[in-house]
Amino acid sequence: MIRLFKYIILFSLLLNINLLAQVCNFCNKKITSNYITVDGLDFHPNHFICNSCGKSIEGSFTKDNNKYFHTKCYEDNYGLRCDYCKKLIKGQVIDSEDGKFHKTCFNNHVVEKCAVCDKPLVGHYIVDVHNMKYHEGHKNDLPTCSNCNRIISSKTTNGGVELEDERSLCTSCFQSRIKSKNEYETLLSKTIYNLSLLGLKFNSSTILVEPVNKRRLAEVSQNSVNTNTKGFCQSSYKYREKNGIREKFDEVHKIYILDRLPEQSTESILAHELMHVWMHQNDINNLPSNIVEGSCNFISYLYMKDRFDNPSKEVLMLLENDPDKIYGDGFREIRRRFGSKTLNDLLRFLTNY
Ligand SMILES: [Zn+2]
Ligand SMILES: [Zn+2]
Ligand SMILES: [Zn+2]
Ligand SMILES: [Zn+2]
Ligand SMILES: [Zn+2]
Ligand SMILES: [Zn+2]
Repeated sequence: MIRLFKYIILFSLLLNINLLAQVCNFCNKKITSNYITVDGLDFHPNHFICNSCGKSIEGSFTKDNNKYFHTKCYEDNYGLRCDYCKKLIKGQVIDSEDGKFHKTCFNNHVVEKCAVCDKPLVGHYIVDVHNMKYHEGHKNDLPTCSNCNRIISSKTTNGGVELEDERSLCTSCFQSRIKSKNEYETLLSKTIYNLSLLGLKFNSSTILVEPVNKRRLAEVSQNSVNTNTKGFCQSSYKYREKNGIREKFDEVHKIYILDRLPEQSTESILAHELMHVWMHQNDINNLPSNIVEGSCNFISYLYMKDRFDNPSKEVLMLLENDPDKIYGDGFREIRRRFGSKTLNDLLRFLTNY
């Protein structure tokens, strides 16, 4: 900041006897009658000159860097202006990353407001994957939508619904949830068909789907999956000898999937679980979990990536930004390696791992 001195002129109309033969600091000529003194320098009254407009100063002035200005001239040319309202800042200045502001301009128009409580966000705050910014404390006080991960509040999601299994859904996800059990069969067939178009083909073993709530999913998976998991695939089969070759039969794959999610999320989870089915069918076991889950998420990604409706784009965005070490990092690693290759390259890689 420029150091700014503001003086009210000591317009010293000292009638002077001129014993010291004073000299005007502007014109260097002797002062024989009235003069003014500013900072110990004497001037003819009309020779105390504004450095901006060149006219004499009578009244208040502003000094900056040993130069004198009409206060108005100074303000017009050098005054500190608010980066929001463009008017002069005379009182307190808020000097922020975004510029300099009047305090009220800053608080009312510049500083980020909390998406939940609308109060200014100062210091540390959360920016979620939807670019929603809010106070960190709300994270503990408010539920998060278990489908879209939005923090649920009247302002952010127009409220939401708590399910009996400790899940919460925001209003929009709840409204677009799958309501009938029959829909899951249809979506399973649709997903299997679409995956086969991408090049992921299944053998004739039985694939079933069962929508369950979160508690049931934890039971069937014996909590072997993390708390954010939305599906679990259970595979069972028997062996028999045929012409001296041991082969599987009665192979059944049962996909448990969280119920009451929107269709797009459900399809994306089905695509993920169907990749587990494909691995079972092809006896791909004992791979590192980041490769397994990363590949399953990659199949979801391939399945969703060419859709342009907003719910699908959002499912994809959440998948791409999943912070989980196994699911998220695993996916990004597989995409880095196979994103520009064919699906067959990935399948070969998994088969030969
Ligand atoms: Zn003079
Ligand atoms: Zn001036
Ligand atoms: Zn302002
Ligand atoms: Zn807040
Ligand atoms: Zn939601
Ligand atoms: Zn998985």
